[in-house]
Amino acid sequence: MIKGNLGIVTGGTPGPRGPQGAGPEGIRLSQGYSEQAPGHGRLMPLILAAAAIALSTALWAQDLEPPRASATVVPGKPQQIGAYPGHEGHPTKKWIATLRCEPVSYTLQHWACYHESYPHGAVAIEGQIGMMSPGGGNWYTNGFFNFALDDQQGRDYPVKTIRALDSGERASCEFVWELPQAWVRVRFMTIPGQQPLFCSIVQLPKTEEIATLKVRLACYPSGYFHDGARVGLTAAQVIKSTSKGELDPEKEWWMILYDEHYDLGVSGGIGGAGAITEPELVGKSTVEIGAYGCFWNLEAKSGGKELRFAFWNGLKLKNAELAPTLKPKFEPTLTTLRGIDFRPLRFREEVVAQVSSEFEKLLVETQDAEAEETTFKTTLARLQELRPTVMGDQPNLEAEDEYLKLLDELDNTLWQLRMKWVFSD
Ligand SMILES: [Zn+2]
Repeated sequence: MIKGNLGIVTGGTPGPRGPQGAGPEGIRLSQGYSEQAPGHGRLMPLILAAAAIALSTALWAQDLEPPRASATVVPGKPQQIGAYPGHEGHPTKKWIATLRCEPVSYTLQHWACYHESYPHGAVAIEGQIGMMSPGGGNWYTNGFFNFALDDQQGRDYPVKTIRALDSGERASCEFVWELPQAWVRVRFMTIPGQQPLFCSIVQLPKTEEIATLKVRLACYPSGYFHDGARVGLTAAQVIKSTSKGELDPEKEWWMILYDEHYDLGVSGGIGGAGAITEPELVGKSTVEIGAYGCFWNLEAKSGGKELRFAFWNGLKLKNAELAPTLKPKFEPTLTTLRGIDFRPLRFREEVVAQVSSEFEKLLVETQDAEAEETTFKTTLARLQELRPTVMGDQPNLEAEDEYLKLLDELDNTLWQLRMKWVFSD
């Protein structure tokens, strides 16, 4: 119970707990008692007991309150691929990232084949990031999201890390690759009350020469049917299988994909899907509508470091209902997408400032807290030392992990001080 609540401080985020992501309400309640108490007289033990009960009750209540969104990652587990043509006996590793949220939860996966014969040690043979859930069709379960820098395919490089970032007011996770030209971060996010899966891909170039950032999205509208009558609908055209189309990035920033043969409920069809991209970031956009797979290919503008998307899946809508349902959502979702700061909430500067301010306040009123003070100051100093690296242009995954761990330690020390403060005369 305690551990879960400690996360509230630096893991805490704006929301019903207060705009500052403030500490447990119980603390405020007991402070109120302290201020109104008629001195530190006979009533003190009673007041302290009441304060302690109020504190623990408030914390308990918060523990029972389910998080509104949460991110979890099951780390890469070695497994054998079996009889995959050309990869017999190669070991594979698979990660699963889940963003739990209402109204829609998403499960993403990355798996790759690791073998000494590969130039960079690994190849994601089916694609880089797959959407397992909602599943059954549309955004490809084994790899709907693939990127390249110039002609270097991201799938030819081993993933550096896949990890959960935010839980609470939103859920997010990231997939990080390192290519010769740049680091690439792909972050996904769900926001309670919002249907789509939000996404940002950012390249962090290692040199002044900036590679062209490309994304290839794979979709199997309504299901994995080989003889589909696939359709890609944009603001300006209807592209049917099998054909290719050049899109106007400025006008054709949304796409609805469905199948005219396999409508919802026909031979197990699950109904179509949709996606948007942030038009200002796109330099080139094409679409390939096949009888089986459909691909939306996007390139960032020259020198561009980012592309952004929002994906819909699991809609369970008939073809006739798709456009009337999705179209009104595109514009407001684009506004949301533009406004998202994909950086982890816990990396924000005010997080440390908030904890420090509460710590300082309690420290003045607490006896025998030298040990906590020393630990807190040491942790704080190391955090400040790491901050420029963590916020730098080049990812330093070790520093980022250490930073997050230190935030937990800061929380722990604050918690210890709170307990001493409650029982301090
Ligand atoms: Zn292989």
